[in-house]
Amino acid sequence: MLARMIDRQRLQSLLERERARYAESHPRSAAAYARGQRNLFGGVPMTWMNKAAGHFPLYLSGARGSRVTDIDGHEYVDFALGDTGAMAGHSPQPVVAAIQSRVQEHGGLTAMMPTDNAAWVGAELERRFGVSRWSFTLTASDANRWAIRLARQLTGRPKILVFAWCYHGSVDETFALPGPDDEAISRPGNVGPPVPLAQTTRVVEYNDLDGLAQALAHGDVAAVLMEPALTNIGIVLPQPGYLDGVRELTRTHGALLINDETHTFSAGPGGATGAWGLEPDIVTIGKAIAGGIPVGAYGLDAALADRIDGLDDIDLIDTGGVGGTLAGNALSIDATRATLEHVLTEAAFEPMIERATRYTAGVQDVIDRSGVEWSVTQLGARAEYRFAKPASVNGSESAAAGDAELEDYLHLHMANRGVLITPFHNMALMSPATTDADVDRHTALFAEALEALHQGPATS
Ligand code: PMP
Repeated sequence: MLARMIDRQRLQSLLERERARYAESHPRSAAAYARGQRNLFGGVPMTWMNKAAGHFPLYLSGARGSRVTDIDGHEYVDFALGDTGAMAGHSPQPVVAAIQSRVQEHGGLTAMMPTDNAAWVGAELERRFGVSRWSFTLTASDANRWAIRLARQLTGRPKILVFAWCYHGSVDETFALPGPDDEAISRPGNVGPPVPLAQTTRVVEYNDLDGLAQALAHGDVAAVLMEPALTNIGIVLPQPGYLDGVRELTRTHGALLINDETHTFSAGPGGATGAWGLEPDIVTIGKAIAGGIPVGAYGLDAALADRIDGLDDIDLIDTGGVGGTLAGNALSIDATRATLEHVLTEAAFEPMIERATRYTAGVQDVIDRSGVEWSVTQLGARAEYRFAKPASVNGSESAAAGDAELEDYLHLHMANRGVLITPFHNMALMSPATTDADVDRHTALFAEALEALHQGPATS
């Protein structure tokens, strides 16, 4: 079959039609957005919430399992799941019970005292991710920041190596792209970088071992910070042997390897590290592990932790730069235990991954039948379609396949009919509560959206 081109004019008129329908059917969200303009920076509680295909976000009323409800009374099947923060499903009962118990029975939300559940969580994280000494944060961004500080301290080297178009949270070192002469340059839009990126960062393309070897050969990289598969520029999977090569090269060149499992946790109960038998020195994670309560964590290989313990010129107790007052608080630790013990269990991952396989097969079938040059990629319980075929092998290729207008149209077509995928690119995630019927509903709407694109002129 010949590749189907997208008729841009038709796309624009469909998008306008969907925007009009969205505005008409969400008057309360529109009014809430208007109320936020005067006293909220950007008009919303967090500026990224302006990433809304309909020009204003949906305002949350409530959420349970795989469903969210907005303040206009519409219910949605939610495949965005808080961009992984709600991968356990919304408000899972064991997490709600743990929160209630902490708040109502025990009390003590922040008290400058540890709770015993943390050791249970540390042991469980070791069982899943291999590394054994864990510390807690409130976000995955912080887990990465503190892991980076420790890596620099241990190696005495200044730079962090990341991959083009990666995302690891609001971490200064990571907003880099490859520039001329192998130097890292700032990503477009990077807000107030403290120093030129070339001073702190080396950046290479994912799936390129030669590029990595060259960059590491400078001998100034403290750590390679990587998602085992890229998930923030579509999903880019490792080619066979690539991750083994990364591990070998980092060992050869004395750089630590940090696996950021915040999103790749979708690969299985131990993330990609567990699923693919990886051997990082440090694992960072956040988002899903407390069922929606803010938490992050980083885990260190035991020998590495011992080496850090052996350093007597660093302050890990007071104002040394690794720590947060509310980190490790009782509530987030209780919620993490409940999530890992009762919700995102080994048994739960199996059907989550099956749902994602069903989703991927459904989307692939629609793509094949419609003849568009798109691809869909699965990473355990997560799947994503991208406007490139074959699927991209690195971040820059995948970035080039972005199409904001097309994304807005697809997102709105689905939102107007009761299905949400992430507002950033086209990610869908399965929770333990997601059903086959939820998946099939998305597939049907995806097919419908593509059919509308390929029919005669749009009519309103
Ligand atoms: N690491 C990865 C891989 C992420 O995708 C993100 C957020 N999308 C983060 C870290 C940062 O998470 P947070 O915003 O919760 O700090």
